[in-house]
Amino acid sequence: MVQNPSFDQLQLPVDLLDNLKSLEYHAMTPVQAQSLPLVLEGKDIIAQAKTGSGKTVAFGLGLLARLDVKKFRIQTLVLCPTRELADQVAREIRKLARAVHNVKVLTLCGGMPFGPQIGSLEHGAHIVVGTPGRIEEHLRKGRLNVEHVQTLVLDEADRMLDMGFQASLEAIIAPIPTQRQTLLFSATFPEEIEKISRNIMNSPERITVESPQEESTISQYFHPVDNETHRRQAVGLLLMQDKATSAIVFCNTKRECQEVADELSDQGFSALALHGDLEQRDRDQVLVRFANKSVSVLVATDVAARGLDIEELDTVINYHIARDPEVHVHRVGRTGRAGSHGRAHTLYGEKENFKLRLLEEEQGVVVEREILPPASLLNERPARPPMVTLQIDGGKKSKVRPGDILGALTGEGGIEGSDVGKIQIFPMSSYVAVKREVAKTALKKLGAGKLKGKNFRIRQLSGR
Ligand code: ADP
Ligand code: MG
Repeated sequence: MVQNPSFDQLQLPVDLLDNLKSLEYHAMTPVQAQSLPLVLEGKDIIAQAKTGSGKTVAFGLGLLARLDVKKFRIQTLVLCPTRELADQVAREIRKLARAVHNVKVLTLCGGMPFGPQIGSLEHGAHIVVGTPGRIEEHLRKGRLNVEHVQTLVLDEADRMLDMGFQASLEAIIAPIPTQRQTLLFSATFPEEIEKISRNIMNSPERITVESPQEESTISQYFHPVDNETHRRQAVGLLLMQDKATSAIVFCNTKRECQEVADELSDQGFSALALHGDLEQRDRDQVLVRFANKSVSVLVATDVAARGLDIEELDTVINYHIARDPEVHVHRVGRTGRAGSHGRAHTLYGEKENFKLRLLEEEQGVVVEREILPPASLLNERPARPPMVTLQIDGGKKSKVRPGDILGALTGEGGIEGSDVGKIQIFPMSSYVAVKREVAKTALKKLGAGKLKGKNFRIRQLSGR
């Protein structure tokens, strides 16, 4: 193994370096090694690295090195998508700051009472860590002064955008002096991040850390089936065995899709069919529910699944082998993305043996034959999906924005931001995923309040 560089070679105050030793942080992680020299030079950076790569230390040391503790005013603002993450970041910064006398770190997050936060703000702080909604609110009410902020950190920027914080971010950043250092961290790099970074950053340096596990790993299994009844049963068995929260079953025809989806539903799986006969509206709904993890199994034709971009697919099942070996490889490649481990199962009957040979010869697929799990697995009930979808009968046309929905859900007496999943806005309706455990509270909270001054009809999309 290559030894990563030590923190000692950085231009850091000696107190900070000594403290790192006491924390037993000796070698820098790759994202720290790449970003810290630039951060300490005062450059703006955009760093892309996955969770657990040590991003907090990368910006934490940077902002502490710039801090002038004698000036008791807010010099650093760190924005995080959820309260949990903000708390974690604040904890890590406090640890790193142990060596510096009297550094005051304040967290300002939604879902917490305002009173104590206002009190703390009156007492002052050097570093504020918080969630965009709440920070924006304190700013609007004139309780938070960002005129002296010299370091701005956007942590998990992609998630903040996913959660609909774009407008809040803009409102927060506008009054911060442009003569500042901006550090942006994100696990993914969608176009919106590029756009936002262009507006708020000053010739940022891009850093991308490829982790060795980033390469996808997919295990392929090929299961012989005796007849059509056996084939149908096999799908449920494999889904049970893999305990899949997100799985696609590929079928060759529309009719097959519907039949397999119906059968799975009868067996207690949360499954929906996706094929060309669906109306656009229904198709949107199926995709929304599958992507936000409130439906676990999508049964689809190749054509219908085209353009589908779903991360974190645990399992792909080929109900029949694809007609074309290239299509097989394409189907299987949908699992095991972004460093996760994926599984692909292919069912085949005797008549399909020649297709297996084609896969081996043309595509170099290693075909290992595996017997199916025991039928007794189907005696258990499949796990229910982790999320539930709430549908709101108002969308873009009514000027509903993700932030409105998030705000309504997480306001006084509401649910945690971390319990809220994907929010998607269509012209006439919107969808928000929430954790199953808090679905009732969320439904009540959304129903009780108004969005954009209107009472929209809200309902929970039923599904197993
Ligand atoms: P990320 O924000 O990239 O998901 P974190 O900043 O939360 O990751 O760091 C993950 C964990 O690694 C934390 O527990 C942190 O204390 C630890 N850590 C960070 N940098 C180092 C290091 N150089 N040496 C040892 N542990 C580290
Ligand atoms: Mg982090």
